Amino acid sequence: MAKSLVYADNAATTKMSKAAIDAMLPYLDNTYFNPSSLYSAGQTAKEALEGARADIAKCLNADEREIYFTSCGSESDNQAIRSAAANGAVKGKKHIISTAFEHHAVLHTLNKLKQEGFEVTLLDVHENGIVTPEQVQAAIRPDTALVTIMYANNEIGTVQPIREIGEVCRKAGVVFHTDAVQAVGHIPVDVKADNVDMLSISAHKFHGPKGVGVLYCRRGVPLRSFIEGGAQERGKRAGTENVASICAMAAALKEACAHLEENAANLCAMRDRLIENLTKIEHSRLNGDRDRRLPGTVNMCFEGIEGESLLLMLDAKGICASSGSACTSGSLDPSHVLLSIGLPHEVAHGSLRLSLSEYNTEEDVDRIIEAVPPIVEYLRSISPVWEDLVKGIKPHLI
Ligand SMILES: *Cc1c(COP(=O)(O)O)cnc(C)c1O
Repeated sequence: MAKSLVYADNAATTKMSKAAIDAMLPYLDNTYFNPSSLYSAGQTAKEALEGARADIAKCLNADEREIYFTSCGSESDNQAIRSAAANGAVKGKKHIISTAFEHHAVLHTLNKLKQEGFEVTLLDVHENGIVTPEQVQAAIRPDTALVTIMYANNEIGTVQPIREIGEVCRKAGVVFHTDAVQAVGHIPVDVKADNVDMLSISAHKFHGPKGVGVLYCRRGVPLRSFIEGGAQERGKRAGTENVASICAMAAALKEACAHLEENAANLCAMRDRLIENLTKIEHSRLNGDRDRRLPGTVNMCFEGIEGESLLLMLDAKGICASSGSACTSGSLDPSHVLLSIGLPHEVAHGSLRLSLSEYNTEEDVDRIIEAVPPIVEYLRSISPVWEDLVKGIKPHLI
């Protein structure tokens, strides 16, 4: 009998929870009405929408009026950054601070803004995958319009000192946005305590559907619309609301937040077992701080091999993982995240990201621990790079 799939790529997307699917179905079926319609049937959809908004606000310690529904995490990032940049420009502030290891939804938006005349400072990330509030403090200038720093990194899983960075920004009067797509539903996020002005969320990273997200924008922080059209979302995001997906997102988030601690404890135990066993492989390294990391994310490098080959061989054994590299574009460039923490190209090429969710089991972890070492050994046995390392022609880098 074929072995079941081991899905260890939850940082890429997650399986929808039963609660999320159940919450979605009525709005795909009989309650399909447009929430902007005035007849009572439309009002049923409107009530569901507002109920979802209230539930999500509660999970984040936000006010309902601070929650804007979007079509994805990428859209939330784009809108937050573009809005703060445009508001800054009006006051002659055209400087933005971010980091070198953001998601491309942030980095590519910043590149566009650079072409439009903004100046962008990308903070270096420390070797442990963390940026510090002191770095942010030192980079803030009188013309800084925005600081945008991710809550938790999607490749290496390191969690940033968001609360302290937020405090620095608040004191300096600079708008602070955080891409919290990997954090929300996985670790405690409280928009008030964390001192954030804007925060991005995506449902499919916490067992909700793909194609729906949230932009939190604190009251008093001006938000510009990104998609023009109707007056939905208080004029800040046009387009008929995706009621079914929004209700599913709320159900998924409520469930995730209700079980946050217990899920995190189980995940940390499984994650730590992976780290403990896989770091026994010689010339391997764990990327990112050992402890300040998401409960389910492990990122490792194995010297002398290509991450892509490792992934294909894991796939043949029914294990879904990621290299965390930019292989989506078909390019063989190593991951910008791994380069940002100072890894040499040769090392960054041999990366493996394993991201677990509460649907994973101890058996899944066993299968990964059994599968990876012999594959690494085999790939090294046919690797010219490894041969050079063994013969001492090139020095080991890890
Ligand atoms: C997945 C992800 C995004 C993009 O979210 P989508 O909903 O897929 O657009 C943005 N930032 C981070 C950190 C992510 O992990």
